[in-house]
Amino acid sequence: MTTDNPSSENNEQDARPKNFVEQIVEADLAANTHAGRVHTRFPPEPNGYLHIGHAKSICLNFGIAQNYGGKCNLRFDDTNPAKEDTEYVDSIKEDVQWLGFQWDGIYFASDYFQQLYDLAVQLIKDGKAYICSLSPEETREYRGGWDGVGQDSPYRDRSIDENLDLFQRMKAGEFSDGEHTLRAKIDMASANMNMRDPAMYRIKHVHHHRTGDQWCIYPMYDFAHGISDSIENITHSICTLEFEHHRPLYDWFLDELDIFRSRQYEFARLNITHTVMSKRRLLELVEQNHVTGWDDPRMPTISGLRRRGYTPEAIRSFCSRIGVTKQNSTHDIAWLEDALRAQLNKEAPRRAAVLRPLKVVIENFPEGHEETMEAVNNPEDPSAGTRQIPFTRELYIERSDFMEDPPKKFFRLGPGREVRLRYGFFITCTDVIKDEQGNITELRCTYDPETRGGQAPDGRKVRGTIHWVSAKHAVNAEVRLYDHLFQKQDPSNVEEGQSYLENLNPNSLEVLTQCKLEPSLKDALPGERFQFERLGYFCVDAKESATDQLVFNRSVTLRDTWAKMQKKG
Ligand code: ATP
Ligand code: MG
Repeated sequence: MTTDNPSSENNEQDARPKNFVEQIVEADLAANTHAGRVHTRFPPEPNGYLHIGHAKSICLNFGIAQNYGGKCNLRFDDTNPAKEDTEYVDSIKEDVQWLGFQWDGIYFASDYFQQLYDLAVQLIKDGKAYICSLSPEETREYRGGWDGVGQDSPYRDRSIDENLDLFQRMKAGEFSDGEHTLRAKIDMASANMNMRDPAMYRIKHVHHHRTGDQWCIYPMYDFAHGISDSIENITHSICTLEFEHHRPLYDWFLDELDIFRSRQYEFARLNITHTVMSKRRLLELVEQNHVTGWDDPRMPTISGLRRRGYTPEAIRSFCSRIGVTKQNSTHDIAWLEDALRAQLNKEAPRRAAVLRPLKVVIENFPEGHEETMEAVNNPEDPSAGTRQIPFTRELYIERSDFMEDPPKKFFRLGPGREVRLRYGFFITCTDVIKDEQGNITELRCTYDPETRGGQAPDGRKVRGTIHWVSAKHAVNAEVRLYDHLFQKQDPSNVEEGQSYLENLNPNSLEVLTQCKLEPSLKDALPGERFQFERLGYFCVDAKESATDQLVFNRSVTLRDTWAKMQKKG
């Protein structure tokens, strides 16, 4: 269920054709397959922070429940204790809610450890599971290759009593890791490797973040997942394509145990250019300090995107736009950026900010004098109104808006040239001041008092309009500019012996510490978003910004500058 679902999204959903999962759900509803019930779940393993790929799954699972009057559970698939942690559990809950969804039930696979154990005992009693004592290497050899068949384990015909006894002793902690496994007795000759007597339980003397040291045997994903679905009466268990070949096993367990029959459906994972998406790699980036943490604004994690300035609406809109199919593909990160840009263009208040300041002194503007100019808050939204900004003798402009020796097409400021200051006056550069090294430190200009509001009464034209901030009133800030985390479109596509880490973009972060902002930004709140005119969309960093030292993150540029740069080469 969503708590917050703008109607525009609903309209979008209505307008687009139904995806294949929705078609399945509708067919089931029409056939009354589950007595009219629709119940999905989002089942993350708490071994890392959620990323944008998970957002696709979240939007799909919660979206189906919402659109068909059903329910959606949040279930932590915490059967692999070595890598799991409550820090991840907490972050996952926060991220799901931030995306605008609320679960109907919250569960942990570890809640079912006893039930899972009991069901495993039932399979042993039915002669459908056995304790195998082959070593991991032997097990691999016996399983055989894709092109051949496997070989029965010599332990396959252990008696039911012996199996029950050994399983009980495994649970009691009598054996060390790897000594025995519990395996389903299916078919060692199956063409599907997953059906060649897959492991159901392994011994792991590892502390679990919820069950502590109560268990030293843990169920395997394939055994635990379907049964957890069944226990929760999940009707449509939606997972990614790599589990397609696990479906026969999913079905086998539920059929053999004769419990509620959930159904598994697979869709394509989301991949995005210029980033990596597996939690293992994201963890590596964090642990090796390639980024500052899971919520580094360059990360494809939900927490990173949030800190970067992404909105839940933009992420949902992106997920809706990419759709749900069975074809694996990679989406251009520009699509994600576009979704944010589209929303912020409509909603973000416009402000003036100078990131690389160059001082301008207007020599014919009286010292100590101040004019108040009216600036439009958002041309896309008249209801946003206007604000007052002070104009004084000393201003800052962007260094890049001045060139000492400008080429023809440069319509901004140059010696002797006239330019329009947005919401200000026309100014003409009369002198360029330099330090001993020849660096430009200041510009001297004159202004035309008749041009207030941006028009010259004599009708003379200026081509360029630049932004500015009054030096006296300027608020100092640090601004962090981000670029793609990886230079290559597909950073994981590397030659043998190479690591995807070699594709990290060394220029993915640029920190500007001398930025000058218009005074109204002084009270900007953590997470608040703005368009800095001509520069892009920015938000106040929610973690490191302070009232006396504002820090802004660039969320996204105004246009897709990367594509342009690539074209230029
Ligand atoms: P990772 O490889 O990043 O660890 P995972 O699939 O192991 O991903 P889980 O925590 O097990 O991560 O995933 C929870 C749910 O999110 C699963 O249903 C999974 O299919 C889905 N999911 C994970 N990654 C993606 C993705 N890139 N696109 C779509 N769905 C995904
Ligand atoms: Mg996983």
